[in-house]
Amino acid sequence: MKGTIYRQCVGLGNESVSTLKRLLHEMPHPFRKGDNIGIKLHWGEKGNHTFLPPLFAREIVVWLRELGAMPFVFDTSVLYSGSRRNGSDSLKTAAAHGYSEAYLDCPVVVADGLDGRAVIDIPAGYRHFETVQVADIFKRASGFVILSHFKGHMVSGFGGAIKNISMGWASRAQKQRMHSDARPRLEKNSCSQCGLCVDICPSGAAQIAADGYPDYSQELCIGCAQCIGLCPELALEICWNTDINVFQEKLVETAAAIWKQIQGRAVLVNAMLNIASECDCLPGQHPIIAPDAGFVGGYNPVSVDVESINRIGKEPFIKAHPHVDWKHQFSYGREIGFA
Ligand code: SF4
Ligand code: SF4
Repeated sequence: MKGTIYRQCVGLGNESVSTLKRLLHEMPHPFRKGDNIGIKLHWGEKGNHTFLPPLFAREIVVWLRELGAMPFVFDTSVLYSGSRRNGSDSLKTAAAHGYSEAYLDCPVVVADGLDGRAVIDIPAGYRHFETVQVADIFKRASGFVILSHFKGHMVSGFGGAIKNISMGWASRAQKQRMHSDARPRLEKNSCSQCGLCVDICPSGAAQIAADGYPDYSQELCIGCAQCIGLCPELALEICWNTDINVFQEKLVETAAAIWKQIQGRAVLVNAMLNIASECDCLPGQHPIIAPDAGFVGGYNPVSVDVESINRIGKEPFIKAHPHVDWKHQFSYGREIGFA
C-alpha cells in the first residue's frame, strides 16, 4: 500500500467537499470501530486568507464517525510570534477560523499541550538528527489522518504532507533546530525603516541601529523567517549559514522519524485548493499561483507530495520560489528510505 496513490479532481464550491468524500470512501484504511483518530491539519495564522477552510476537516470527521471511530483534530504551537505561539491563543485562532468543536463535532487539540511541554524525543538516526522532539500525541491516538493544504512556501518551496508532518508535529525546540541556519539579509535600498521586523521578532534579534535601519543579531536570531515573510517592502532575503538543502534535509528527517511511529496506522490527504505562494503561517493575502487541482490520497508522504507537484505542475513553484531546490526533499527522502 506504501506507494499507492488515489486521485480525485475537483469541481467548484461545495463540489470539492463531495470530491473529498468520494476519495475517502475509495481509499482503503486501517481504522476500526472505537479507534481514537487524530486529524493533523493547519488551521491558519490570524490574518492569513488562504488557509484550508474547515469544511474539509468536518467531512473527514463525518467519515470517521461513520466508521465508528472517535476523531479529534490537532496542530502544534509555533516558534514565532503570532496567534498560535501558545496553546490557548492557538485554540482561539482555530475557533476564529471555524475550527471549533461545535462546527467540527469533535475535540480541537493543541498536541504539544497548552504550555508546549507535552513532547517526547523519538529516534531518528539520520545525518542531522539522532533523535527528534515532537508532540507526544502518538500515545493518545490509535491512528491518524494527515490532511495537508498543498501550497507554496518561502523556505521549503512547497508545503504539503512532508512539511505538515515535520514542522507541523515538531516541538517548538525541534522547529528551532530545523530553522536554525536561516538568517535575514537586509537590502537597505528597499527598506522603508518601518520597524515591523523589530516589532514581530520573537527573540529580540531585530533591533533598529543608529543609522535608522534594522540590524539582526546572529546570536539571538532563531531563524524563524517571520521578518522575511512579513516585510512589506520585500527588503529581506533569507541568508543561509549553511546550504539551504540542509534545512530541507532536516525537514525530511523529522517527518521520516515521525512517520516511522505512525506508518501503517495513518492515511494522507493532500488538498490542492487555494494554492497560494506562501504558507498558511503567514498573515496576509498571498497570490494564488495555480488553479485548484483536487485531492491526492495515499500512504507515503513523499509519494503524495510528488504526485501533488505532478498534478499542479512544477512551474508555479519554481516561479514563486526560484532559489529553493525543493526537489531535494524528494531525493533526500529516497536516500534515507523514507520514500
Ligand atoms: S520590515 Fe522591512 S521595510 Fe520595515 S524596517 Fe524591517 S526590513 Fe525595513
Ligand atoms: S531576526 Fe531572526 S528571529 Fe527575528 S524575526 Fe527575523 S528570522 Fe525570526
